[in-house]
Amino acid sequence: MRLAAREGPGRASRESASGGRGGAGGTSGDVTGRHENRNCNLVRVRVSRRRRRAPRPFSRNVLLRRNTAPVRPGRTGTRGYNARMTASNQTFDVAVIGGGLVGKSAALALTQSGLRVALLAQPCAPLPAGAVFDARVYAFSRSSQALFERLRVWQAADASRLTPVYDMRVFGDAAAELHFSAYQASVAQLAWIAESSVVERALDAALHFQPNLAWIDTRAQTLDVKPDAAVIGLANGRTIEADLAIGADGAHSWVRAQIGSTVERRDYRQTGVVANFRAEKPHGETAYQWFREGEIVALLPLPDRHVSLVWSAQTEHADELLKLEPAQLAAEVERVSQSQLGVLECVTPARGFPLSLQTVDRLVAPRVALVGDAAHLIHPLAGQGVNLGLRDVAALVDVVTKKEAFRDLGDIVLLRRYERGRREDIQKLVVATDGLQRLFSLPGTLARAVRNTGMAFVGAQPLLKRWLVASALG
Ligand SMILES: Cc1cc2nc3c(=O)[nH]c(=O)nc-3n(C[C@H](O)[C@H](O)[C@H](O)COP(=O)(O)OP(=O)(O)OC[C@H]3O[C@@H](n4cnc5c(N)ncnc54)[C@H](O)[C@@H]3O)c2cc1C
Repeated sequence: MRLAAREGPGRASRESASGGRGGAGGTSGDVTGRHENRNCNLVRVRVSRRRRRAPRPFSRNVLLRRNTAPVRPGRTGTRGYNARMTASNQTFDVAVIGGGLVGKSAALALTQSGLRVALLAQPCAPLPAGAVFDARVYAFSRSSQALFERLRVWQAADASRLTPVYDMRVFGDAAAELHFSAYQASVAQLAWIAESSVVERALDAALHFQPNLAWIDTRAQTLDVKPDAAVIGLANGRTIEADLAIGADGAHSWVRAQIGSTVERRDYRQTGVVANFRAEKPHGETAYQWFREGEIVALLPLPDRHVSLVWSAQTEHADELLKLEPAQLAAEVERVSQSQLGVLECVTPARGFPLSLQTVDRLVAPRVALVGDAAHLIHPLAGQGVNLGLRDVAALVDVVTKKEAFRDLGDIVLLRRYERGRREDIQKLVVATDGLQRLFSLPGTLARAVRNTGMAFVGAQPLLKRWLVASALG
């Protein structure tokens, strides 16, 4: 899944094992300088020699029986979630490295299917004092909702913070306008909008109750893939072993660098500026998007007349936006949104995230699989990045739970099934998001006429619109 040499405003680059940007200690911080830096409370994991077992037939009953032994209480210094996992538990079926929404979902899905899982992650950070909303807000597609429902996470999330999207209005950079409606598409809603932390908190709560999950609140530092296990060295100097290691460690994936997966990157030279506002007029559960001069402004509905901004702006312009006072930013968003929602009041300070496209040449290696942004990174214009990652999780869990009895979880034959199964979905979104980004970045009146005529054409084709909605629902 390699990108051809790129032209245009973005810069194409390639990175391989030694060139990984993240490194073991790397974080994917935002451009305002905020980085994840929370306390590391470690689940104590004592190392002893691992007795290798023959590959087990994957049977839920067998696994459950194996784990019915009473769990021993945690030892001195043991803290955090599932502190009951103790010295006898340093070997796992799966180790998930990285705990964004994708990694936590993977860990939960795998442990709910009966596997013993280690999750290397931090708990959801509390909102900053006085904050009403999380700065990170996502549009969740039907496929993500389905996964979360299966995991019983959707039901546990604070329903008052989940907003359905019934309509979507997209404005071109001339007169063109597209309207997508859940009613016309005969679906309950086009998407759900939720703050990242609302879902993450529900995930954390569910993970907390999994008896076969060890939550290890530290980072992975070394990965040694041996014939019979993936051996992971932790930042605290300890070691765990697993049949399968899952790299869910984000766009600058350290795991990806360890397996030598080659990355094709195109820097969009844009920054996603995010902030939340209270609007004077009700949004009517409508998501708005404006394409303007190579930039994209989206306002997503939040509860109680609030909206979430994602402004994909040229880097220099984004820097200016990020320097504005909240009232100035609100006025600017009001101007570019043509006062669609009346006067806006900024309720969450703006943050910026550099935007780029990344594809990798392989998602798997013996005993290792990549999911989420570690496996692909796309422009947020379609609001699909995390949805794509959650579909990785669903696919990987499906492959693993349907494995033949004689296969080991880290068997490359098994993992290639996952890779093959994901190729088309990833490629489709890479092409669609990159194509749209390029189309709306082209300067000149001709380009503008072409894209707006195209939008008007799509708008006049109910069947095509239905198909587009069905594709976007995931
Ligand atoms: C402005 C913007 C708006 C977006 N809007 C949407 C949207 O509406 N809908 C949507 O679907 N997507 C959206 N996306 C995309 C979405 O943000 C990402 O796809 C998603 O966050 C990826 O999740 P992840 O769990 O794969 O990675 P991350 O969220 O990056 O999580 C990776 C985790 O791994 C940890 N980690 C890294 N290295 C290690 C290590 N060595 N050991 C242990 N842990 C490690 C990190 O600390 C981090 O917690 C948007 C993106 C941007 C920039």
